[in-house]
Amino acid sequence: MLLNNRLNDCSIQQPLALKNCQMKNVLFIVFAFAIPVALLSQVTKQTLPQLNKTNVKQVIAAMSVEQKAKLVTGMGMILPGPTANNDKKKSIWTNKRTEREECKNVVYSVPCGDCGIRYIGETGQHFSERRSQHQRDVKNRKKTNGFYCHIRENKGHKIDWDKALFLDYEKNWKRRKIKEAIYINAINPTNTMNKKDILNLEKGYELDAVWSEFNEVHRLGITRKMG
Ligand SMILES: [Zn+2]
Repeated sequence: MLLNNRLNDCSIQQPLALKNCQMKNVLFIVFAFAIPVALLSQVTKQTLPQLNKTNVKQVIAAMSVEQKAKLVTGMGMILPGPTANNDKKKSIWTNKRTEREECKNVVYSVPCGDCGIRYIGETGQHFSERRSQHQRDVKNRKKTNGFYCHIRENKGHKIDWDKALFLDYEKNWKRRKIKEAIYINAINPTNTMNKKDILNLEKGYELDAVWSEFNEVHRLGITRKMG
């Protein structure tokens, strides 16, 4: 149900339409996985004349971690390192609390100060506003809030909002949702949520399985961003 609500701007609200929605809204050169075909050819240095779902999956599965990283940055996702992509978006790479408060359109990550398990979320609002909403949910003991559930189940644990960091920047709502889901999936690749790995209660946007091929790249990225 929640998924359908999230997709309420898609014309057909049926599971089969999910991938089409992803394609349409991601705005990459569209193919079944929202990966730009030209970029894929460039990274693999192959021409891919007869693309179909199966051979693209095979091509991606056979790529090196470095190639996958190139593809990820080429798709506008942020990986640490001196790339043009990062320079353009480095304004979100801030540790200054005052600057961080004002950032919006970000995918963020916040840890429990006691066990280090992180929550991954996205917001189009200023980060400070989203944080206040979470804090209100915790105060109101909202059972749908991942932070509250963690604190309830782990007495004495406190969320360390000062250690919040931004994983990515994205103005487009749908693409931000997809990015959030990609990071959540990297930390928690299984269908069920593992409370020892992540504070989120659900996986978010339904992703095609091909994105799991990039999990190693994203996990590496998250670790580096945590510095
Ligand atoms: Zn904890």
